[in-house]
Amino acid sequence: MQKQTSKTPASDLLPAETFPENILLPLEIRVHGRGGQGGVTCAKLIAATYAKLGFNVQTFGDYGAERTGAPIRSFTRVDKTPIKNRNKVYRPDHLLVLDTGLLVPTLLDGVAPGASLLINSSEDPEKLRRRYPQFRVAVVDATSIAREHGIGTAAVVIINTTIVGSYAAFMGLPMTAVQQAFSFFGFVEDYEAAVAASRAVQIFEPLVHPKAGGSENIVETGPVLPITEHQQDIPTGLKTGTWASQIPQYREYAAPCSLACPAGNDVVGFIQTLKEKGASAAAELLLQTQALPSVCGRVCPAPCMKACNRTYYDGPVNIRSLERWIADNSDLQLTPLSDPDPKNFAVVGSGPAGLSAAFHLAMHGQKVTLFEKEHQLGGVLRYGIPAYRLPDDVLDRDIARIMALGVGSECDAKINSEKLAKLNSEFDAVLVCIGLGAPYAMQAAGEQLKGVFQGLDFLARRKKEKLPLSGTVVVVGGGNTAVDCARSALRSGAGSVKLVYRRSRAEMPAIAEEIEEAAHEGVQILTQRQPVAFIGSDTITGIKLAEVELGDQDASGRRRPIVTDQTVELACTTVLLALGQQPHLKLLPEGWAIEGSRVMNGDEPLPVWFAGDCLTGDGTVAHAIGNGRRAALDALAFCSGKSLPEDKEMKSTVAPADIRFSHFPVIPPYEDRHQAGGRIKENFEEVNLGLPGPGEAERCFSCGRCTNCDSCLVFCPDGIIFRDGSGYRIDQEYCKGCGICVAECPRRAMAMLDK
Ligand code: FAD
Repeated sequence: MQKQTSKTPASDLLPAETFPENILLPLEIRVHGRGGQGGVTCAKLIAATYAKLGFNVQTFGDYGAERTGAPIRSFTRVDKTPIKNRNKVYRPDHLLVLDTGLLVPTLLDGVAPGASLLINSSEDPEKLRRRYPQFRVAVVDATSIAREHGIGTAAVVIINTTIVGSYAAFMGLPMTAVQQAFSFFGFVEDYEAAVAASRAVQIFEPLVHPKAGGSENIVETGPVLPITEHQQDIPTGLKTGTWASQIPQYREYAAPCSLACPAGNDVVGFIQTLKEKGASAAAELLLQTQALPSVCGRVCPAPCMKACNRTYYDGPVNIRSLERWIADNSDLQLTPLSDPDPKNFAVVGSGPAGLSAAFHLAMHGQKVTLFEKEHQLGGVLRYGIPAYRLPDDVLDRDIARIMALGVGSECDAKINSEKLAKLNSEFDAVLVCIGLGAPYAMQAAGEQLKGVFQGLDFLARRKKEKLPLSGTVVVVGGGNTAVDCARSALRSGAGSVKLVYRRSRAEMPAIAEEIEEAAHEGVQILTQRQPVAFIGSDTITGIKLAEVELGDQDASGRRRPIVTDQTVELACTTVLLALGQQPHLKLLPEGWAIEGSRVMNGDEPLPVWFAGDCLTGDGTVAHAIGNGRRAALDALAFCSGKSLPEDKEMKSTVAPADIRFSHFPVIPPYEDRHQAGGRIKENFEEVNLGLPGPGEAERCFSCGRCTNCDSCLVFCPDGIIFRDGSGYRIDQEYCKGCGICVAECPRRAMAMLDK
């Protein structure tokens, strides 16, 4: 809907004495015509006529794309003061009807008794007058006049200019103003027809006078409402909804962030909830899938952020830190479901997979016992990831929330194959979440020298006791364990730390931000180097590194390292190996085997499931959390005989091309705060301090999910979308299926569907 509001420069105005005196302001005019008759131009010429008389005017059509013969409406407002109303005209004072075919009963909706009605008709004017006894009625056969003056074609006579002459006569407007308006818009040639129509028009006062009599009864237009509050408009009589072959519908599409989340979090959901209802409400949603939000909000590699559509605009939403914000700032009492016949579950291993499984089982009202071989619960979160990334109290908080649901635990309880078989007979179901097994060895000469350690052992021991280091420490590997070892070595007193990796830096599997922080703290990263020997007689004194060339891509998609015979020696005091871990192979009793995630004894499925790294080797906390939850729900469904709701199936994803970037202001991402640089040695305080506030949530596009932003309503050219409760209603009787609402939806929360 294009609205034009204008004021004629004083120099162009007609003399003041030509102003009609009886005009009540503000004045609203509605023109009913058909595509091709020129109704929009007619409204414009009337506006221009009033403008020439010194009034402020506004004029606009109902929609941009007129079709020949289709009912259209156009509107003009006139006032002494500048016009701010942006709505259509709902209560016209003057109604122009360009075609008797449009004289349907609903045409008059909203028109006050005593209003003025100008009809283009060749019918008997008296008859029309009697049909509308409570209105001032003027009748003119503008079509014949326009035809006589050769305006338009024989098939489609254009009456827009002709009828303006009769309108001026009806309202007592000076024809000089009409003439000026015509010349302003380049219709000088049509002026003669307008003059003829001004003479031909027959004007009748109301037969039945409105109670209060006369024009003072004209309905006030009332205060200006925002466009979003617009009223149900007056139907045109022609239900244009029948034209549509497609209709717009509000839909929900999976956002790429949510699809990328291995834990199965509803990312858009929790961010929008944070924005609208605060951290506790967001936590409630997050905890439906995420047992360890404080942990994941710190250590997750955040594949969601890599998938975020905002990356293509002004930078991805800092989703990980929003999750952390919610976890750190919410106060939530969880109420588990109550099950009158709870089942008894054993969960072996208390890393993220086991904790997640225990959490969801407990939330479903089941009895759960965790069996953990270490002294404390947490798995790698407790004994691997250093405190400067994941402080103990943060981990404790997430674990305490789970244990508060009534989960029991036995620590220092290593489960072997015999005990697993026993658990199978004692519990209704067993979930095995034991993570990965022993670390890989280097298989290089001198690996047994004193001073060569497994990085994982170093990290685990460092959690329990101080392990002072000195001199040059070489860390071998490129994953999270390697980077954690390097940064922990710096904190443990190493003079210098060199991280040796056989591929390029871009191919290091560790979290990119962690690599950057390690480099920032002073870890020297040596890429395309492969240790081939450890040097020393009893204790290590150096390491022999071969240069590596990168060949073709291997199965992992990374370039294959080719070790050359070019070597260098590097003096060092300690080597920490971080080459990954192998799967546990020895836990299954004789005859048991894993199929999918379920354990089979021959052909017989056992109520035993595997989950987490020991099953998938995915190697991230979020994967383990998601996998643990899904296995728990599978086990519960099996034991209870009920099928439990699966992860919400989403239709398809929202691509960057689906986002209307221009609807969003550019807002650079809010950065995490960090500990002020300075002392690293012995400083295991958390480095990343998270976001200063939840403002980052404002940056979420809410891909695929309606936020009630009103774009559909505002852009609908027919004004047939209305706010309705918590959403919108589309008047399907009038929706022509133009698709503009869908095209203008900033976030693909609508779609055009075949009717
Ligand atoms: P685990 O966390 O390994 O837990 C298994 C648990 O089972 C342990 O508690 C173990 O003691 C127990 N267990 C084992 N055998 C037995 C048995 N026989 N009886 C009883 N209990 C047993 N991922 C990320 O997403 N982000 C990171 O920043 C990150 N950093 C990492 C840093 C390090 C140093 C390491 C090693 C890994 C890191 N990872 C990271 C990977 C991530 O921690 C793992 O993918 C995740 O912990 C796997 O979870 P899980 O529950 O399957 O196994």
